[in-house]
Amino acid sequence: MERKNCVLADKIRIDQLVRSHRRTIALMITPEASPKPSIPSFVDGEKFPYLGELYSFQAYDGSRIRIEGGLLFPRDLLPQARQEMEFWYKQEAAKVIPERVEHHMKIMGVRHSGVRMSSARTRWGSCGPSGDVQFSWKLVMAPLPVIDYVVVHELAHLTVRDHSKRFWALVAEFYPAYRQCRRWLKDNQRMLDLTEKHGSVPY
Ligand SMILES: [Zn+2]
Repeated sequence: MERKNCVLADKIRIDQLVRSHRRTIALMITPEASPKPSIPSFVDGEKFPYLGELYSFQAYDGSRIRIEGGLLFPRDLLPQARQEMEFWYKQEAAKVIPERVEHHMKIMGVRHSGVRMSSARTRWGSCGPSGDVQFSWKLVMAPLPVIDYVVVHELAHLTVRDHSKRFWALVAEFYPAYRQCRRWLKDNQRMLDLTEKHGSVPY
């Protein structure tokens, strides 16, 4: 019961975020808003992206990473900050992305055979031959509309495997703002990493 409430609370929180994000989509996906890419050093005041917002890193005396005003980071974990941050992003991705997949799957009337998270550097998402869809955990750093675009893109591959006109027409039908989101990913791909090294993205 407690777990169900927790899932429901997460769902409400995400729905609210999507609604507020949709209003500000044009503003949010301007590349000027993104920080200069650099290798993170995990010092107070450094900015980290989460769902398209930048949060100020702040070491504190708690035991877990929290978003509360800024990004509160346990002081005791500073020696292994990069691994801990990566682990936290992965956990958040595993909460947020499958929920968006379920949401769009219902609207699009398709069915996948499983959702998995990946650490792929050069692909934001993929759709396997057996109908399983896979997403990079790094996407959780991007704005929700961008996550939604990648989700719709991969779910559209369940119907059309290639990147033909028919495929893009299907993406446009379910996600009219997809061009802005593709642009955002191209412009900000280096931001969505903790190491700054990134290859090309196929979007
Ligand atoms: Zn594709």
